[in-house]
Amino acid sequence: MAGMTSTARPYLNRRLAEFGTTIFAEMSALATATGAINLGQGFPDTDGPEEIREAAVRALRDGRGNQYPPGPGVPELRHAISVHQRHRYGLAYDPDTEVLVTAGATEAIAATLLALVEPGDEVVALEPYYDSYAASIAMAGGRRVPVTLRPDGDRFRLDLDELRAAVTDRTRLLLINTPHNPTGTVLTREELAAIAELAVERDLLVVTDEVYEHLVFDDAEHLPLAGFPGMRDRTVTIGSAGKTFSFTGWKVGWVTAAPALVSAVRSAKQYLTYVSAGPFQYAVAEALALPDSYFDGFRRDMLARRDILATGLAEAGFGVFRPAGTYFVTTDIRPLGEKDGFAFCRALPERAGVVAVPNAVFYDDREAGAPFVRFAFCKKPEVLQEATDRLRRMA
Ligand SMILES: *Cc1c(COP(=O)(O)O)cnc(C)c1O
Repeated sequence: MAGMTSTARPYLNRRLAEFGTTIFAEMSALATATGAINLGQGFPDTDGPEEIREAAVRALRDGRGNQYPPGPGVPELRHAISVHQRHRYGLAYDPDTEVLVTAGATEAIAATLLALVEPGDEVVALEPYYDSYAASIAMAGGRRVPVTLRPDGDRFRLDLDELRAAVTDRTRLLLINTPHNPTGTVLTREELAAIAELAVERDLLVVTDEVYEHLVFDDAEHLPLAGFPGMRDRTVTIGSAGKTFSFTGWKVGWVTAAPALVSAVRSAKQYLTYVSAGPFQYAVAEALALPDSYFDGFRRDMLARRDILATGLAEAGFGVFRPAGTYFVTTDIRPLGEKDGFAFCRALPERAGVVAVPNAVFYDDREAGAPFVRFAFCKKPEVLQEATDRLRRMA
């Protein structure tokens, strides 16, 4: 389960036994073998801004970050993260005590769960979930308790009663993700307010993965959970440069939280990677300080790509949940007369020359995820056009 296929793993310990190889390895291999267009994995096919690449080169040449940077991250980047949170959301974080730079959001998630979860604690997470959540909860010895986002008209919706019912005396924290991968849902102000109320009422910590904060479309608005009443000091907010600046290979992420939480996360983080990405940290500091026009342009550009893909998929006969955020479109394959996303995705490269990912890998409740398939649109417009042409011909 959980983003994984069941390959026999004779040496893998019990905590990780269910996590074989990820679906992305299998699907990318299929893409390579068949020459199909890979809309499976979510990485851009164009690098981020030239000036930011140059900033990385400059840092490297100037000897900034070539040796171990400071454990919490270089001061320039911590400062830039702090300014970004204040400028965007009016949230003030002290760069010295409330910001921690990590090896991508992935390490931030792992370090946070390893630091905060006791063995046997329950972690309530939205399902479908980003594939590293389940593995990180398992590594921390926690138990994941999924709350399933259900299709409701043209979006997936969080059932607040289900969320309430999932919280028990064993619940240590809520793990939230908005904008949400893979459904493209952006949690609304009302939904976030209800999550916040619940967290305060039950005195829970909240970890919120907001790596797609800059990718929201139409009327949707990204609201950080940390900004809701009572949330500032119980929330660990996770961000990343990978998705916002199209440098997923740099692996620069961060955590913002109250000092005691940052200090706990740092305790785990220092024994995972200690530090990483020295010269890239300086470049990301410059990237975060880009003018608003960069962020607006990036959003507009991705919106145009969303529309090419979403419209093309609808014309090819898929049920389309037009995403309010992220760079993924979740589709329903039942209108095509299909019901098993796994079988569909395994056959799709041969049938149409396109690779997609079955959402079922992001569910414990595989039945609930069976008819859904995810396509990424962080690809060149002509690539998306060609992919949708192929899918239309298939239909
Ligand atoms: C891509 C992604 C991550 C990982 O981000 P990195 O900075 O590359 O580690 C985390 N969460 C979600 C929801 C993602 O889509």
